[in-house]
Amino acid sequence: MRPPLLVFNKNGIYCEQADVYIDAWRPVNKCIITHGHADHSRWGHKQYITHSKNVPIIKHRLGDITVTGKEWNETFTINGVTFSLHPAGHIVASSQVRVEYKGEVWVFTGDFKTENDGLAEAYEPVKCNTFITECTFGLPAFSWIPQAEVFDDINSWWANNKAEGKTSVLFGYSLGKAQRLLKHVDPAIGQIFTHGAVENMTEVLREHYVFPKTTRITRDTTKQELLGNLVIAPPSAHGGTWIRKMVPYVTATASGWMTFRGARRRRAVDRGFVLSDHADWEGLLSSIKETGCEKVIATHGYTDIFSRYLREELGYDARTEKTQYEGEQSELEPKKEEVES
Ligand SMILES: [Zn+2]
Repeated sequence: MRPPLLVFNKNGIYCEQADVYIDAWRPVNKCIITHGHADHSRWGHKQYITHSKNVPIIKHRLGDITVTGKEWNETFTINGVTFSLHPAGHIVASSQVRVEYKGEVWVFTGDFKTENDGLAEAYEPVKCNTFITECTFGLPAFSWIPQAEVFDDINSWWANNKAEGKTSVLFGYSLGKAQRLLKHVDPAIGQIFTHGAVENMTEVLREHYVFPKTTRITRDTTKQELLGNLVIAPPSAHGGTWIRKMVPYVTATASGWMTFRGARRRRAVDRGFVLSDHADWEGLLSSIKETGCEKVIATHGYTDIFSRYLREELGYDARTEKTQYEGEQSELEPKKEEVES
């Protein structure tokens, strides 16, 4: 029997035949990066390979790195192993990685979602033998409603707050969620202001993507200017002195975790919108089916429950592997870059 094409070792997901890692969590020589979130694109690799539109994102986060950009479906071969990147639909420029060697195909999803959010390049199922998947929301309780309905709710929430003379503060992680919110809120309601961390990342993305006009909140921004308008900020901005400028304000968070009432209370926000950049239960199951795979490896999220369901109910050869990916959890915890901005 041939050794597995990809293994999980102390550094990350490793292809020995090509001597390449994918989303390694410790510094390695050569690393393919699925997307710009901190738990997938770590500092310290000698060489990075990622989608060309993710190049400015990880350069913004990691500084002066050696990085090669690839296009969707573009194949590149290392020591007989063929690699290509395919849209994961998770955030802008997020990829799945396809790995093929001697007729055997493995796909790693990184993080992904199945709904086309109108900003991130839409998820494409890729045929494979082994599918390595995240399952951040791998429980039947997670079932997303279409984003058009969520944005109707968000826009009416903003309009109502405005009518009551209050500023609306909406929290979303500075890379991905913040721009998805920005893309679909209605600029006809009022002006859109941004926290520095969100504005910095949005500026980088404007090179490849179109967003409505935003105004960076600075020391000089007055309470009067903000009144009735919308502020998009990272979750870490909640609770600091920064937010006092917004009084009177109403807060909301957009996350898959808002499915649980307790999650909103714990984060002390007035309103929770269920909006996730990860696949829900049905999305995970339909994606696995569409790949036509025989084997599934679950990397992060509800891995044990999810892989047991795949084995016992659907008959897949499914197992879990320990990784250091955090899924949407990381989107709600302060990141160094957010605290500093
Ligand atoms: Zn992510």
